Amino acid sequence: MHTGLAHTLDFDRDGKTLEHLSIPFSIDRSPYFQVKVPICLIRNGDGPSLLLMAGNHGDEYEGELSLAKLARRLDPKRIRGRITILPMANAPAVMAAKRCSPLDGGNLNRAFPGEPLGTPTSRLANFLETELFPRHDVVFDIHSGGTSMEHLPTALVERNADPERHRRGVELMRTLGMPYGFVADNGQASPTSMGAARRAGAIGVSGEFGGGGTATVDSMAITARALDSLMVALGIVEAPVLAPKHEPATPTRLLSLSRHSQGLYATRGGWFEPAVRLGDSVSAEQLAGWYHDLEQLDLAEEALHFAESGIVLSRRLHTMCEAGDCLMQVAEPVKG
Ligand SMILES: [Zn+2]
Repeated sequence: MHTGLAHTLDFDRDGKTLEHLSIPFSIDRSPYFQVKVPICLIRNGDGPSLLLMAGNHGDEYEGELSLAKLARRLDPKRIRGRITILPMANAPAVMAAKRCSPLDGGNLNRAFPGEPLGTPTSRLANFLETELFPRHDVVFDIHSGGTSMEHLPTALVERNADPERHRRGVELMRTLGMPYGFVADNGQASPTSMGAARRAGAIGVSGEFGGGGTATVDSMAITARALDSLMVALGIVEAPVLAPKHEPATPTRLLSLSRHSQGLYATRGGWFEPAVRLGDSVSAEQLAGWYHDLEQLDLAEEALHFAESGIVLSRRLHTMCEAGDCLMQVAEPVKG
């Protein structure tokens, strides 16, 4: 009663089911409180199975809005197989408009494989990895930069030791029609949803679809195109559901981010002014921006330089920084 995660879902039932995952967690305001995570199951007979999730981080809205729309719009009769939708996976974080859950500080995308007796975020991670992900061929987890960061639209898959599954993952990543793509290699024990999907035997696909804690015409359009393209490629729907006519996609350009030196970090408190834009090509030693100290007007601003060349992939949006904040990342274009 006071641990675990409860639900009454029947994964073999045809039609559309709107339900909640319930995670008991006693709090001051409500001794028998349960975290309620909305979940939508849509099934029409046997066929491919796809899990769609957003709100892994609460302040990343492109996926949350798109999946809510999809849950409303998808007609079970128009699909083949099964789609499971979690539009706000870490629901307390979504309701607080935060990256992490205010209930337990949990960052869901660092919580896998989680524990059945752990905090709500940890219990949710455990349920996803051990019970929900294994029921699906493909897990698509939609991220964006969140409130504090802008990010190039970038699809992502984790390297898979099985060559055939790896090939299929990269193929599906390219299907999304994103301008950029990554093959990440975070190891077998990775605490992310993509690590969890791989351990669960599903093909994981993810990506950053915008940022800044908002949704724009452009970021919603690339998210809709990715979702439609993935569902069509898997043979779950015959035609796009979210947007009947998409702008044609250019081929996905592969990038690599594998060294700490590709990030520019603050080492003290201050205020960062960028000298380059997201998507710019930069070279090692090039000026990245200036670090100001507004409390010491007699000090000149400090010029910060990139350690590596590449394409500016992400940028911190909050000007005021502390030691340890990542100010910018530069990704290396790769062939193949
Ligand atoms: Zn995220």
